Amino acid sequence: MLFVQILMSFTIVMPKDLLSIVVCPRCKGELKMARHKLDCKNCRLRFGFVTQDIPKMIIEEAEQY
Ligand SMILES: [Zn+2]
Repeated sequence: MLFVQILMSFTIVMPKDLLSIVVCPRCKGELKMARHKLDCKNCRLRFGFVTQDIPKMIIEEAEQY
């Protein structure tokens, strides 16, 4: 499962207007972009980015906020 998430995080390319369709991998909730991080307001996880355009959608590496 973790492997699948890592694989996805490296294959999803993220033009800015596609960010609206990215959902939280834990709760499938809406993610909000804030200071180049993606915040889930449902479970309060904050996801960083692997590169400028590729978010790191790994629950284990997300920070609680
Ligand atoms: Zn969530």
